[in-house]
Amino acid sequence: MHQPAMTIGGSAVRGASHFEVRNPSTGEVIGLAPNGGQAELDAAVAAAHRAFQGWSRQSDEELAQACRAVAEKIQAHAEELALLTTLEQGKPLNGLGSRWELGAAAAWASHTASLQLPVQVLQDDAAGRVELHRKPLGVVGSITPWNFPALIAVWHVLPALRSGNTVVIKPSPYTPLATLRWVELLGEVLPPGVVNSVSCDDRSSNLGAAMSAHPLIRKIVFTGSCATGQRVMQSAAATMKRLTLELGGNDAGIVLPDADPKAIAEGLFWGAFINNGQTCAAMKRLYVHERIHDDVCEHLVAYARRVPMGDGLDERSQLGPVQNRMQFDKVARLVADARKKGSVLLGGEPGAGLFFPATIIAGLNNGDALVDEEQFGPALPVIRYSDVEDAIAAANDSPNGLGGSVWSSDPVQARRVAMRMECGSVWINKHGMIQPNAPFGGTKASGLGVEFTEDGLREYTDAQVLFA
Ligand code: NAD
Repeated sequence: MHQPAMTIGGSAVRGASHFEVRNPSTGEVIGLAPNGGQAELDAAVAAAHRAFQGWSRQSDEELAQACRAVAEKIQAHAEELALLTTLEQGKPLNGLGSRWELGAAAAWASHTASLQLPVQVLQDDAAGRVELHRKPLGVVGSITPWNFPALIAVWHVLPALRSGNTVVIKPSPYTPLATLRWVELLGEVLPPGVVNSVSCDDRSSNLGAAMSAHPLIRKIVFTGSCATGQRVMQSAAATMKRLTLELGGNDAGIVLPDADPKAIAEGLFWGAFINNGQTCAAMKRLYVHERIHDDVCEHLVAYARRVPMGDGLDERSQLGPVQNRMQFDKVARLVADARKKGSVLLGGEPGAGLFFPATIIAGLNNGDALVDEEQFGPALPVIRYSDVEDAIAAANDSPNGLGGSVWSSDPVQARRVAMRMECGSVWINKHGMIQPNAPFGGTKASGLGVEFTEDGLREYTDAQVLFA
């Protein structure tokens, strides 16, 4: 049984009660997480606020060095954290699962350590000197979701630390264990209070909501659903918090008539089904030209049939269960509706426990729920089109704008279509490949601001202009 504590001001805090964390593969209780309340949150924010004085006064090189130490800590404990992630999230250890997630977390941490925001000299002449400085904000509140708990924690915390802020992080109640354990480990390389963790079950208390309104928190970095993101934005208004919101997506992929169905099948599959589709920037709608529609479906289904799904701890599994009952029921509802309107090419029936087989349903259109709503699970709708202009219009006809992709053998035409898609990231012949040296963020209802690179780092700072 895993029982990590909250870390507040460098001390382990267990809280008055706890809640159970279950393995989605088996339903077994595998951990107990502290059920923190307002008192623990206030203590964590106060500790971060105190620690900010010393942390933010360090030199740029000292901050970079501390972030490198964090990256090394993740690397050294990658297998332990991967195992915890598999146990609580369900994803396989192997493939694009939790070992991959922790490897990416270490790589992202060390890349973030290398970022810099040097002072910019805007003017230096006889009339005077004008410098643009970037100053840390203070206490940053990080609120994370359950799909990539370890990696998203790194995406939030490392840029905050690198730019001189201190942090209070609150993981999802579905996946608190790896994050709480990670923050315990950070105590070995960071001063007390620099990173604090709180957890709660979201029923007896909702600390995400309390963080969004907390007067001493200067910024919220939030990854989660659009609906909760809107609530964060509302609560943050009174204290004029800075916000980075990475929200939901309903990414479209457009297959042009000249694409090679066999060559793109593997990329299409993983673009849609990575992490069982529980990925913000996964492909959630696939538009295929009528000339190659049947071939694309055939090769995609053939590839999908070969991907083993099972218990995350089984080294052979490449896909695991859906993470929680709420998400499973949502996928089941959308698939049941889609079965009535289209033709099921693969899957289509809920499996045992939280296992939902990879499902591909053709013959659907915009207006069908599986196309219009974010399924966030292993079910891909395929839409046949005859005119590329119609496909572009249908792809863009969504309140979301996180990612998109174009699949084609003609790079010029692919680029032309890609640049017309309304989304923050657009890929050609791949989907969802985010990387630390490119900014990532949503347009439209998919979010506010970007993460990664100096552009992302800047969002953890205020500008201060010195006129000398
Ligand atoms: P969610 O919005 O339900 O929960 C996210 C976090 O918010 C959790 O930690 C939760 O405890 C907390 N929370 C709950 N109520 C809150 C409130 N009132 N105020 C502040 N915080 C609150 O999202 P989820 O179900 O964990 O994640 C799935 C969603 O996240 C999907 O829509 C997915 O597309 C999106 N997502 C987006 C990205 C991205 O980078 N754009 C990445 C991963 C997931």
